[in-house]
Amino acid sequence: MLHEAVTVGWPQVQREASDEGTHFPQRVYDEMQGYLNCGDARHGFVEVRCEECETSVAVPFSCKRRGFCPKCAAKRAHETEEHLMGLLPSVSYRQWTLTLPSSLRWPVVKDVTLLRSVEKRLLRAIFRWQRQKMKALGMKGKAFTGAVSQLQLFSSALALQPHWHVLVPEGVWLNQTFVELPAPDIRDVEAVLMRLLKTVERLFLKEEESQDFPHDALERLQHEGAQLKFGWPAVPTLKGHLTAIGGGFSLHAGTWVHANDRQNLARLVGYGARGPISEVRLSRTDDGNYQYLTKRGLTLTLTAADLVRRLVWLTPPRRLHLTNFHGVFSSHSKARALITQKPQASDDEAPRLTKDQTRRARRTHLDFATLLKRTFGIDIWTCECGGKRRVLAIITTRRLAAQRLGDLGLEQAHPHRPPKPMAQAPPQLALAV
Ligand SMILES: [Zn+2]
Ligand SMILES: [Zn+2]
Repeated sequence: MLHEAVTVGWPQVQREASDEGTHFPQRVYDEMQGYLNCGDARHGFVEVRCEECETSVAVPFSCKRRGFCPKCAAKRAHETEEHLMGLLPSVSYRQWTLTLPSSLRWPVVKDVTLLRSVEKRLLRAIFRWQRQKMKALGMKGKAFTGAVSQLQLFSSALALQPHWHVLVPEGVWLNQTFVELPAPDIRDVEAVLMRLLKTVERLFLKEEESQDFPHDALERLQHEGAQLKFGWPAVPTLKGHLTAIGGGFSLHAGTWVHANDRQNLARLVGYGARGPISEVRLSRTDDGNYQYLTKRGLTLTLTAADLVRRLVWLTPPRRLHLTNFHGVFSSHSKARALITQKPQASDDEAPRLTKDQTRRARRTHLDFATLLKRTFGIDIWTCECGGKRRVLAIITTRRLAAQRLGDLGLEQAHPHRPPKPMAQAPPQLALAV
Protein backbone atom coordinates (compact mmCIF):
# COMPACT_ATOMS: atom_id res chain seq x y z
CA MET A 1 0.00 0.00 0.00
CA LEU A 2 2.89 2.34 0.82
CA HIS A 3 4.44 1.36 -2.50
CA GLU A 4 1.24 2.33 -4.27
CA ALA A 5 1.09 5.67 -2.42
CA VAL A 6 4.69 6.50 -3.35
CA THR A 7 4.11 5.45 -6.98
CA VAL A 8 1.19 7.91 -7.18
CA GLY A 9 2.39 10.65 -4.82
CA TRP A 10 6.05 11.05 -5.72
CA PRO A 11 5.49 12.27 -9.32
CA GLN A 12 2.98 14.82 -7.95
CA VAL A 13 5.42 16.11 -5.35
CA GLN A 14 8.12 16.38 -8.02
CA ARG A 15 5.73 18.30 -10.27
CA GLU A 16 4.88 20.75 -7.48
CA ALA A 17 8.56 21.42 -6.97
CA SER A 18 9.26 22.00 -10.63
CA ASP A 19 6.19 24.28 -10.93
CA GLU A 20 7.79 26.38 -8.22
CA GLY A 21 11.04 26.39 -10.16
CA THR A 22 12.88 24.34 -7.58
CA HIS A 23 14.08 20.74 -7.24
CA PHE A 24 15.17 18.14 -4.70
CA PRO A 25 18.75 17.18 -3.97
CA GLN A 26 19.83 13.95 -5.70
CA ARG A 27 19.63 11.87 -2.53
CA VAL A 28 15.87 12.42 -2.31
CA TYR A 29 15.40 11.03 -5.85
CA ASP A 30 17.69 8.11 -4.92
CA GLU A 31 15.74 7.48 -1.74
CA MET A 32 12.39 7.38 -3.56
CA GLN A 33 13.54 5.35 -6.55
CA GLY A 34 15.49 3.02 -4.27
CA TYR A 35 12.37 2.32 -2.24
CA LEU A 36 10.26 1.75 -5.38
CA ASN A 37 12.79 -0.84 -6.62
CA CYS A 38 13.58 -2.36 -3.22
CA GLY A 39 12.96 -6.09 -3.11
CA ASP A 40 11.85 -6.15 -6.76
CA ALA A 41 13.64 -8.98 -8.56
CA ARG A 42 13.17 -7.26 -11.92
CA HIS A 43 15.93 -4.87 -10.87
CA GLY A 44 18.38 -7.64 -10.04
CA PHE A 45 18.67 -10.57 -7.68
CA VAL A 46 20.83 -13.34 -6.34
CA GLU A 47 19.91 -16.74 -7.66
CA VAL A 48 20.37 -19.48 -5.09
CA ARG A 49 20.03 -23.11 -6.16
CA CYS A 50 19.46 -26.30 -4.23
CA GLU A 51 22.25 -28.83 -4.68
CA GLU A 52 19.82 -31.74 -4.32
CA CYS A 53 16.69 -30.95 -6.34
CA GLU A 54 18.31 -28.20 -8.44
CA THR A 55 15.43 -25.73 -8.08
CA SER A 56 16.33 -22.05 -7.83
CA VAL A 57 14.89 -19.14 -5.92
CA ALA A 58 15.48 -15.49 -6.72
CA VAL A 59 16.45 -13.28 -3.79
CA PRO A 60 16.02 -9.64 -4.85
CA PHE A 61 18.29 -6.80 -3.74
CA SER A 62 17.13 -4.36 -1.12
CA CYS A 63 17.64 -0.59 -1.49
CA LYS A 64 19.69 -0.18 1.74
CA ARG A 65 18.58 3.44 1.96
CA ARG A 66 18.70 5.23 5.30
CA GLY A 67 15.32 6.95 5.04
CA PHE A 68 11.87 5.48 5.31
CA CYS A 69 12.04 2.14 3.40
CA PRO A 70 10.31 -0.05 6.03
CA LYS A 71 12.01 -3.29 5.02
CA CYS A 72 15.51 -1.82 5.09
CA ALA A 73 14.76 0.13 8.28
CA ALA A 74 13.65 -3.09 10.00
CA LYS A 75 16.81 -4.81 8.87
CA ARG A 76 18.97 -1.94 10.10
CA ALA A 77 17.15 -1.80 13.45
CA HIS A 78 17.83 -5.49 13.88
CA GLU A 79 21.52 -5.02 13.06
CA THR A 80 21.79 -2.15 15.52
CA GLU A 81 20.10 -4.21 18.19
CA GLU A 82 22.49 -7.12 17.62
CA HIS A 83 25.47 -4.81 17.69
CA LEU A 84 24.46 -2.91 20.82
CA MET A 85 23.42 -6.00 22.74
CA GLY A 86 26.85 -7.44 22.00
CA LEU A 87 28.50 -4.27 23.26
CA LEU A 88 26.50 -3.13 26.27
CA PRO A 89 27.64 -4.68 29.54
CA SER A 90 25.07 -6.27 31.86
CA VAL A 91 24.41 -3.32 34.15
CA SER A 92 21.24 -1.33 34.78
CA TYR A 93 20.33 1.42 32.31
CA ARG A 94 18.18 4.50 32.27
CA GLN A 95 16.79 5.92 29.06
CA TRP A 96 16.89 9.71 28.81
CA THR A 97 14.71 11.17 26.05
CA LEU A 98 15.20 14.74 24.87
CA THR A 99 12.85 16.62 22.56
CA LEU A 100 13.43 20.10 21.15
CA PRO A 101 11.15 23.13 20.92
CA SER A 102 9.47 23.38 17.52
CA SER A 103 11.39 26.55 16.67
CA LEU A 104 14.70 24.70 16.85
CA ARG A 105 13.79 21.60 14.85
CA TRP A 106 14.43 23.14 11.50
CA PRO A 107 17.76 24.80 12.43
CA VAL A 108 19.20 21.50 13.75
CA VAL A 109 18.13 19.49 10.71
CA LYS A 110 19.59 22.13 8.42
CA ASP A 111 22.85 22.21 10.35
CA VAL A 112 24.00 18.76 11.42
CA THR A 113 26.89 20.21 13.44
CA LEU A 114 24.35 22.00 15.58
CA LEU A 115 22.38 18.80 16.05
CA ARG A 116 25.53 17.01 17.13
CA SER A 117 26.44 19.84 19.51
CA VAL A 118 23.09 19.59 21.30
CA GLU A 119 23.60 15.85 21.65
CA LYS A 120 27.10 16.28 23.08
CA ARG A 121 25.91 18.88 25.55
CA LEU A 122 23.11 16.63 26.71
CA LEU A 123 25.58 13.84 27.39
CA ARG A 124 27.93 16.22 29.19
CA ALA A 125 25.11 17.42 31.42
CA ILE A 126 24.15 13.84 32.32
CA PHE A 127 27.75 12.76 32.98
CA ARG A 128 28.36 15.86 35.07
CA TRP A 129 25.31 15.07 37.19
CA GLN A 130 26.53 11.48 37.65
CA ARG A 131 29.94 12.68 38.86
CA GLN A 132 28.36 15.14 41.25
CA LYS A 133 26.16 12.38 42.65
CA MET A 134 29.20 10.18 43.07
CA LYS A 135 31.09 12.85 44.96
CA ALA A 136 28.10 13.60 47.15
CA LEU A 137 28.12 9.94 48.15
CA GLY A 138 31.77 10.21 49.14
CA MET A 139 33.18 8.14 46.27
CA LYS A 140 36.64 9.11 45.09
CA GLY A 141 38.81 8.26 42.12
CA LYS A 142 38.63 8.52 38.32
CA ALA A 143 35.16 7.57 37.23
CA PHE A 144 34.29 6.42 33.71
CA THR A 145 30.88 7.35 32.34
CA GLY A 146 29.34 6.19 29.10
CA ALA A 147 26.19 6.22 26.98
CA VAL A 148 24.72 5.28 23.63
CA SER A 149 22.46 7.82 21.91
CA GLN A 150 19.92 7.04 19.25
CA LEU A 151 18.59 9.94 17.22
CA GLN A 152 15.21 9.84 15.55
CA LEU A 153 14.16 12.59 13.16
CA PHE A 154 10.46 11.80 13.22
CA SER A 155 7.44 11.72 15.49
CA SER A 156 4.95 8.90 15.27
CA ALA A 157 2.79 11.28 13.19
CA LEU A 158 5.64 11.56 10.64
CA ALA A 159 6.39 15.17 11.57
CA LEU A 160 10.01 16.30 11.38
CA GLN A 161 10.76 16.19 15.07
CA PRO A 162 14.35 15.32 15.93
CA HIS A 163 14.69 13.76 19.39
CA TRP A 164 17.10 11.48 21.19
CA HIS A 165 16.79 8.28 23.15
CA VAL A 166 19.95 7.97 25.23
CA LEU A 167 20.80 4.81 27.13
CA VAL A 168 22.92 5.63 30.14
CA PRO A 169 24.24 3.03 32.58
CA GLU A 170 22.76 3.85 35.98
CA GLY A 171 26.19 4.28 37.49
CA VAL A 172 29.89 4.75 36.74
CA TRP A 173 33.00 2.60 36.52
CA LEU A 174 35.44 3.16 39.34
CA ASN A 175 38.65 1.12 39.14
CA GLN A 176 37.00 -1.06 36.48
CA THR A 177 34.12 -1.91 38.80
CA PHE A 178 30.62 -0.75 38.06
CA VAL A 179 29.19 1.29 40.90
CA GLU A 180 25.45 1.80 40.72
CA LEU A 181 24.17 5.27 41.55
CA PRO A 182 20.78 6.05 43.06
CA ALA A 183 17.96 6.78 40.61
CA PRO A 184 17.43 10.46 39.77
CA ASP A 185 14.41 12.24 41.18
CA ILE A 186 12.54 15.01 39.38
CA ARG A 187 14.92 17.67 40.80
CA ASP A 188 17.87 15.81 39.30
CA VAL A 189 16.20 15.62 35.90
CA GLU A 190 15.40 19.32 36.10
CA ALA A 191 18.98 20.10 37.06
CA VAL A 192 20.30 18.17 34.04
CA LEU A 193 17.88 20.01 31.76
CA MET A 194 18.78 23.40 33.25
CA ARG A 195 22.47 22.68 32.69
CA LEU A 196 21.75 21.69 29.11
CA LEU A 197 19.69 24.83 28.46
CA LYS A 198 22.48 26.98 29.81
CA THR A 199 25.02 25.42 27.48
CA VAL A 200 22.88 25.28 24.32
CA GLU A 201 21.59 28.84 24.59
CA ARG A 202 24.79 30.28 23.18
CA LEU A 203 24.71 27.82 20.28
CA PHE A 204 21.33 28.96 19.09
CA LEU A 205 22.00 32.67 19.60
CA LYS A 206 24.85 32.30 17.15
CA GLU A 207 22.61 30.35 14.82
CA GLU A 208 19.83 32.95 14.68
CA GLU A 209 22.02 35.39 12.83
CA SER A 210 23.09 32.93 10.19
CA GLN A 211 19.72 31.39 9.35
CA ASP A 212 18.92 31.62 5.68
CA PHE A 213 15.72 30.72 3.93
CA PRO A 214 15.24 27.17 2.60
CA HIS A 215 17.05 27.02 -0.69
CA ASP A 216 15.75 23.85 -2.33
CA ALA A 217 12.56 21.79 -2.40
CA LEU A 218 13.75 19.46 0.36
CA GLU A 219 14.54 22.30 2.73
CA ARG A 220 11.21 23.94 1.98
CA LEU A 221 9.42 20.72 2.91
CA GLN A 222 11.58 20.17 5.99
CA HIS A 223 10.77 23.69 7.14
CA GLU A 224 7.09 22.84 6.81
CA GLY A 225 7.53 19.46 8.53
CA ALA A 226 9.26 21.03 11.49
CA GLN A 227 6.36 23.43 12.11
CA LEU A 228 3.78 20.68 12.58
CA LYS A 229 2.52 21.16 16.08
CA PHE A 230 0.77 17.93 16.84
CA GLY A 231 2.11 14.50 17.68
CA TRP A 232 4.86 14.34 20.24
CA PRO A 233 7.19 11.37 19.94
CA ALA A 234 5.78 8.39 21.75
CA VAL A 235 7.82 7.70 24.85
CA PRO A 236 7.16 4.11 25.85
CA THR A 237 6.30 4.98 29.46
CA LEU A 238 3.83 7.00 31.44
CA LYS A 239 4.05 10.67 30.61
CA GLY A 240 4.64 13.05 33.45
CA HIS A 241 6.85 10.67 35.38
CA LEU A 242 10.36 12.10 35.71
CA THR A 243 9.80 14.59 32.91
CA ALA A 244 11.36 18.03 33.11
CA ILE A 245 10.17 20.77 30.76
CA GLY A 246 11.89 24.08 30.11
CA GLY A 247 12.37 26.51 27.25
CA GLY A 248 10.30 24.25 25.01
CA PHE A 249 12.71 21.34 25.63
CA SER A 250 11.53 18.24 27.39
CA LEU A 251 13.69 15.69 29.13
CA HIS A 252 12.22 12.40 30.23
CA ALA A 253 14.10 9.93 32.42
CA GLY A 254 11.38 7.59 33.66
CA THR A 255 12.44 4.42 31.84
CA TRP A 256 14.81 2.14 33.71
CA VAL A 257 15.92 -1.43 33.04
CA HIS A 258 17.38 -3.85 35.52
CA ALA A 259 20.84 -5.31 34.82
CA ASN A 260 19.34 -8.77 34.31
CA ASP A 261 16.56 -7.59 32.04
CA ARG A 262 18.42 -7.94 28.75
CA GLN A 263 15.18 -8.55 26.88
CA ASN A 264 13.75 -5.19 27.86
CA LEU A 265 17.05 -3.50 27.03
CA ALA A 266 16.98 -5.10 23.57
CA ARG A 267 13.42 -3.84 23.14
CA LEU A 268 14.47 -0.26 23.99
CA VAL A 269 17.45 -0.45 21.65
CA GLY A 270 15.29 -1.83 18.84
CA TYR A 271 12.71 0.90 19.45
CA GLY A 272 15.36 3.59 19.27
CA ALA A 273 16.68 2.22 15.98
CA ARG A 274 13.35 1.78 14.21
CA GLY A 275 12.35 3.51 10.97
CA PRO A 276 9.77 6.32 10.70
CA ILE A 277 6.87 4.55 9.07
CA SER A 278 5.10 1.37 9.98
CA GLU A 279 3.16 -0.19 7.11
CA VAL A 280 0.68 -1.91 9.40
CA ARG A 281 -0.51 1.54 10.56
CA LEU A 282 -1.33 2.59 7.01
CA SER A 283 -4.70 1.94 5.41
CA ARG A 284 -6.71 3.16 2.44
CA THR A 285 -9.95 5.07 2.57
CA ASP A 286 -12.82 4.58 0.11
CA ASP A 287 -12.12 7.90 -1.60
CA GLY A 288 -8.55 6.90 -2.48
CA ASN A 289 -6.79 8.69 0.39
CA TYR A 290 -4.68 7.11 3.10
CA GLN A 291 -5.05 6.90 6.84
CA TYR A 292 -2.12 6.65 9.17
CA LEU A 293 -2.68 5.67 12.76
CA THR A 294 -0.21 7.35 15.12
CA LYS A 295 1.07 5.85 18.38
CA ARG A 296 -1.14 8.18 20.39
CA GLY A 297 -4.23 6.85 18.69
CA LEU A 298 -4.77 9.81 16.38
CA THR A 299 -5.55 9.08 12.77
CA LEU A 300 -4.09 11.23 10.02
CA THR A 301 -5.93 11.39 6.74
CA LEU A 302 -3.52 12.07 3.92
CA THR A 303 -3.49 12.11 0.13
CA ALA A 304 -0.73 10.12 -1.56
CA ALA A 305 1.16 13.41 -2.11
CA ASP A 306 0.73 14.42 1.58
CA LEU A 307 2.18 11.12 2.63
CA VAL A 308 5.11 11.41 0.22
CA ARG A 309 5.88 14.96 1.42
CA ARG A 310 6.28 13.56 4.92
CA LEU A 311 8.55 10.78 3.70
CA VAL A 312 10.63 13.34 1.81
CA TRP A 313 11.15 15.64 4.76
CA LEU A 314 12.31 12.69 6.84
CA THR A 315 15.24 12.02 4.48
CA PRO A 316 18.20 12.01 6.87
CA PRO A 317 20.86 14.67 6.27
CA ARG A 318 24.08 13.38 4.73
CA ARG A 319 26.84 12.18 7.04
CA LEU A 320 24.47 11.98 9.97
CA HIS A 321 25.04 9.01 12.26
CA LEU A 322 21.88 8.09 14.07
CA THR A 323 23.53 5.89 16.71
CA ASN A 324 26.46 7.38 18.61
CA PHE A 325 28.72 6.13 21.36
CA HIS A 326 29.85 8.37 24.17
CA GLY A 327 32.39 8.30 26.97
CA VAL A 328 33.59 4.85 27.76
CA PHE A 329 31.55 3.36 24.87
CA SER A 330 33.16 5.51 22.19
CA SER A 331 35.47 3.61 19.88
CA HIS A 332 38.54 5.64 20.85
CA SER A 333 38.04 5.09 24.58
CA LYS A 334 40.86 3.08 26.10
CA ALA A 335 38.52 1.77 28.79
CA ARG A 336 35.98 0.41 26.28
CA ALA A 337 37.52 -3.06 26.04
CA LEU A 338 37.62 -3.38 29.81
CA ILE A 339 33.97 -2.80 30.45
CA THR A 340 32.09 -3.81 27.31
CA GLN A 341 30.93 -7.37 26.68
CA LYS A 342 33.57 -9.95 25.87
CA PRO A 343 32.91 -12.73 23.33
CA GLN A 344 31.09 -15.43 25.27
CA ALA A 345 32.86 -18.51 23.91
CA SER A 346 35.01 -20.24 26.51
CA ASP A 347 38.50 -21.49 25.74
CA ASP A 348 37.70 -25.14 25.27
CA GLU A 349 34.47 -24.64 23.29
CA ALA A 350 35.38 -22.37 20.43
CA PRO A 351 38.52 -22.09 18.37
CA ARG A 352 40.47 -18.96 19.24
CA LEU A 353 40.36 -16.20 16.68
CA THR A 354 43.44 -14.22 15.83
CA LYS A 355 43.27 -10.49 16.52
CA ASP A 356 42.81 -9.87 12.82
CA GLN A 357 39.94 -12.30 12.48
CA THR A 358 38.18 -10.83 15.47
CA ARG A 359 38.49 -7.36 14.04
CA ARG A 360 37.16 -8.51 10.70
CA ALA A 361 34.27 -10.38 12.28
CA ARG A 362 33.27 -7.25 14.21
CA ARG A 363 33.42 -5.09 11.14
CA THR A 364 31.23 -7.38 9.02
CA HIS A 365 27.56 -6.67 9.42
CA LEU A 366 25.41 -9.57 10.25
CA ASP A 367 24.56 -11.04 6.86
CA PHE A 368 21.00 -10.80 5.66
CA ALA A 369 20.40 -14.54 5.50
CA THR A 370 21.14 -14.77 9.23
CA LEU A 371 18.85 -11.84 9.94
CA LEU A 372 16.02 -13.42 7.98
CA LYS A 373 16.48 -16.56 9.93
CA ARG A 374 16.28 -14.74 13.23
CA THR A 375 13.48 -12.36 12.31
CA PHE A 376 11.20 -14.52 10.21
CA GLY A 377 12.53 -17.99 10.89
CA ILE A 378 13.33 -18.42 7.20
CA ASP A 379 16.49 -20.06 6.08
CA ILE A 380 17.23 -19.20 2.46
CA TRP A 381 20.16 -21.63 2.49
CA THR A 382 17.95 -24.66 3.08
CA CYS A 383 15.60 -25.87 0.36
CA GLU A 384 12.10 -27.23 1.05
CA CYS A 385 13.48 -30.66 0.08
CA GLY A 386 16.04 -30.37 2.84
CA GLY A 387 18.95 -29.85 0.45
CA LYS A 388 21.59 -27.13 0.83
CA ARG A 389 21.31 -24.07 -1.37
CA ARG A 390 24.27 -22.22 -2.87
CA VAL A 391 24.61 -18.94 -4.73
CA LEU A 392 24.48 -19.69 -8.44
CA ALA A 393 24.49 -16.22 -9.97
CA ILE A 394 24.27 -12.54 -9.11
CA ILE A 395 22.18 -10.67 -11.64
CA THR A 396 22.49 -6.92 -11.65
CA THR A 397 20.95 -5.62 -14.87
CA ARG A 398 17.25 -5.32 -15.74
CA ARG A 399 17.75 -7.09 -19.06
CA LEU A 400 19.43 -10.14 -17.58
CA ALA A 401 17.00 -10.16 -14.68
CA ALA A 402 13.98 -10.29 -17.03
CA GLN A 403 15.60 -13.04 -19.06
CA ARG A 404 16.58 -15.18 -16.10
CA LEU A 405 13.25 -14.70 -14.28
CA GLY A 406 11.55 -15.84 -17.49
CA ASP A 407 13.79 -18.93 -17.67
CA LEU A 408 12.99 -19.73 -14.07
CA GLY A 409 9.28 -19.20 -14.59
CA LEU A 410 9.33 -16.57 -11.86
CA GLU A 411 7.45 -13.69 -13.48
CA GLN A 412 7.06 -11.26 -10.66
CA ALA A 413 3.63 -9.71 -10.62
CA HIS A 414 3.38 -8.05 -7.21
CA PRO A 415 6.77 -7.26 -5.80
CA HIS A 416 5.32 -5.29 -2.88
CA ARG A 417 2.85 -7.32 -0.96
CA PRO A 418 1.56 -6.23 2.41
CA PRO A 419 3.79 -7.50 5.21
CA LYS A 420 2.82 -10.91 6.52
CA PRO A 421 2.55 -11.74 10.17
CA MET A 422 5.85 -12.87 11.70
CA ALA A 423 4.88 -16.52 12.01
CA GLN A 424 4.17 -16.78 8.31
CA ALA A 425 7.08 -16.80 5.93
CA PRO A 426 6.97 -14.03 3.31
CA PRO A 427 6.94 -15.31 -0.27
CA GLN A 428 10.40 -16.10 -1.50
CA LEU A 429 10.40 -13.33 -4.06
CA ALA A 430 9.80 -10.74 -1.38
CA LEU A 431 13.01 -11.62 0.43
CA ALA A 432 15.85 -9.32 -0.29
CA VAL A 433 19.59 -9.19 0.21
ZN1 LIG B 1 15.88 -28.91 -2.97
ZN1 LIG C 1 14.73 -0.84 0.98
